[in-house]
Amino acid sequence: MRIIIFGPPGAGKGTQAKLISEEYGIPHLSTGEIFRSAIKNGTPLGKEVKSILDAGDLVPDEKVVGLVEEELKDERYGDGYILDGFPRTVPQAEAFDDILDKKGKTLDAFLQLEVPQHELVDRILTRGEGRSDDTPEKIKNRLAVYRQETEPVLNYYKKQDVVKHIDGVGSIEEIFGRIKKTLNNI
Ligand code: ADP
Repeated sequence: MRIIIFGPPGAGKGTQAKLISEEYGIPHLSTGEIFRSAIKNGTPLGKEVKSILDAGDLVPDEKVVGLVEEELKDERYGDGYILDGFPRTVPQAEAFDDILDKKGKTLDAFLQLEVPQHELVDRILTRGEGRSDDTPEKIKNRLAVYRQETEPVLNYYKKQDVVKHIDGVGSIEEIFGRIKKTLNNI
């Protein structure tokens, strides 16, 4: 199964993606985690993107697309995967479609986690992961970037008839239950 999990910062994409990965035995590919681990390890990529992540801005499309394309060449992604944090712009979505086309593959589901705006900031501030981009100012910027650059990705996928709306309010288990119900029906 090839799945995209989509939603604003703080919606719980990472948490649900991990559960999906375990339940369905497919690898979880999180672009945010790739960048954070590169920064932590002081790799060239990490040095390149650190100030971008710190500001809550987006890494350039070319960079992200190249990275995802390379990563997906690994055979462990052969039976499917869950993408978290990618595609985050319409050009990234178009590039991802090309990647799938070239492999003769299709997307099975685009899970849209729906969480009301007012809950997002509270959730990020209380999750206490200690991320350098989890300060009120930076969260504000990430939400603005989401609205401007990322939300249009939803309309892009609506044209493909793969979008599944998931109510993202409730306990982790409740939300995961909704996701399983949805995925077991496709
Ligand atoms: P969140 O959804 O909570 O903002 P992520 O872990 O998905 O967290 O992303 C953290 C940061 O990593 C983003 O603010 C951005 O700087 C960078 N990033 C992650 N994925 C992408 C992407 N597909 N395109 C551009 N930048 C990205």
